Amino acid sequence: MNDESHNNRKNDDAQREDDEVLHRDPSYFQYYSQLQHQQNMLQDFVRTSAYHSAITFNGSSLFRDRLVMDVGAGSGILSFFAVQAGAKQVYAVEASGMAKKMKVILDAAKRKGQGSPRNAYLADRITVVSSKIEEPRLLKEVPTVDAIISEPIGVLLVHERMLESFIYARDKFLRPGGAMMPSAGTIHLAPLSDAALWNETITKARFWQQNDFYSVDLNPYFAPAFEEYFSSPVVGCFSPTTLIGDSVVHEVDFHTVTMAELKEFTIPIEWEIKYTGLMHGVAGWFDLAFVPPVSSLHPGTQPSATYMSTSPQSTATHWQQVRMLLKQPLAVNAGQIIRGSIFMKVNDQRSYDISAKLIALDAEESALVSNETLATMLDTQKSRVRTALWYLHEQIYNYAYVGEPSDMARPEAANLYLPVDSLLAESALPAGPQGYARTQTISSVEAVGGSLTDFVVNAARNTVESSNSPMEH
Ligand code: SAH
Repeated sequence: MNDESHNNRKNDDAQREDDEVLHRDPSYFQYYSQLQHQQNMLQDFVRTSAYHSAITFNGSSLFRDRLVMDVGAGSGILSFFAVQAGAKQVYAVEASGMAKKMKVILDAAKRKGQGSPRNAYLADRITVVSSKIEEPRLLKEVPTVDAIISEPIGVLLVHERMLESFIYARDKFLRPGGAMMPSAGTIHLAPLSDAALWNETITKARFWQQNDFYSVDLNPYFAPAFEEYFSSPVVGCFSPTTLIGDSVVHEVDFHTVTMAELKEFTIPIEWEIKYTGLMHGVAGWFDLAFVPPVSSLHPGTQPSATYMSTSPQSTATHWQQVRMLLKQPLAVNAGQIIRGSIFMKVNDQRSYDISAKLIALDAEESALVSNETLATMLDTQKSRVRTALWYLHEQIYNYAYVGEPSDMARPEAANLYLPVDSLLAESALPAGPQGYARTQTISSVEAVGGSLTDFVVNAARNTVESSNSPMEH
């Protein structure tokens, strides 16, 4: 190897690192260049109205006369909301062919002729930047801004790894004290009992257990097929009655999270199990918070907080929820505690590898166990430990759930058994909605402990729709 080629090689390597996000992208941006996929997101009423409220309600405090960046502008909808909220100039950065399409709507806003132009209020207020946000030339072309708006959210919050672009934009373009909208996301993980889903999945894998498929013995394929099915998260809505414990949460504060903290993180697990039955896997979803920091506001104004949830108790969104199955279900007793951890690490499929190590403990045992002992137990106690590895990009879709039947099934119908005390307590309490009763009210929000990222969204489930988009924003 001569020096020149060596240097070239070095440059190439550096370039390749810069292009870490670029190289895997053609099909990703091809997808987003199509209006039908932008439409799928616009039609998600929960999503689009949450952004609309978050931007509109902070119009006079955050957006009026301010410079704003829209990271991954797509159809331009968030940029348009920002102009409606009074933004002085919006830099709409978009890497896909949508950038060109957005110029069409902006040209129409300026067009003089018969009648008034469409969306005249947009004229001269939006600069379309047809590029990836990570493109170095943008550092010269785009000024520092007061607020960054973006919808960089995928399945389970992090799929698609676009949060990295959002954080990159923060580090390069946001003025100190500026606002990130959304301001935080929370991943929820909960224990799941769903025999029907487990059976459906093993049935698909067992196809490969035929001895005489057109005279071919398919059995050698069974092990890899089983592996594949049980490492694939199932995306779709499901009944909240399949959850057998409350979720644990992992909060990501978009104002402070570092790139390294996005690339791998551990979620400690501690689930109190409510029913005696079988745990078939882990269910996941996320919430979003839009709370501008006071430092980002015009002096003397107040922030307006907006929250949205994609939980199974909430109105369905195009992100739906995700379920990840154990290869072998875990028998649990009501009152036991599942301990352990779930580790999430980025992969080069614009997604995450998710590994779990869990153990069922009696409550008394859990209260006494040290971290070291727990680690040893996780490695040695095979019969009550389960490990799993799921690939968040290998998603299987399941749209079977269409909402709860009007007379809700009792937990026993799903082979879930309440402790006797709880069962008796159901009839001992005064009448009123509780337990399996349906809630049909509008979402409500409680801030917990005054923290900006600490929030709980209580939302009622209404009708459930499903989308068939393979990419989820
Ligand atoms: N903001 C729009 C679109 C959200 S979808 C809306 O809320 O409806 C995310 C968009 O970000 C896609 O159009 C995608 O092409 C774009 N995108 C993803 N990564 C990007 C990057 N690194 N730089 C610029 N645009 C990006």
